[in-house]
Amino acid sequence: MEKCSMCSKKFPDETMHKMIQIVGKKAYGQNICPACRGLAAANPNYYDAAAGFSQDAEWGKVIDEANKLELPADVVMDLIQSFAKTVKKMNK
Ligand SMILES: [Zn+2]
Repeated sequence: MEKCSMCSKKFPDETMHKMIQIVGKKAYGQNICPACRGLAAANPNYYDAAAGFSQDAEWGKVIDEANKLELPADVVMDLIQSFAKTVKKMNK
């Protein structure tokens, strides 16, 4: 069971719709239950996680590059996270 990010009710994982909520310039992963899906779709701050990100051309290039270099997703994630930390330090 997972908790819906909008109504806080619990639903089975497979019925949850994964969405990305943009707050300020940050993206947050959200679980949206079937009842809230219409509401989230109508909200311009919510993006469909699958459609919004993986089909984006720029992100497609990142995925292509990772595949070309045979980098597993978790390694790319580590790189992104350590890069984010470096950027944070540089901005201080
Ligand atoms: Zn809900």
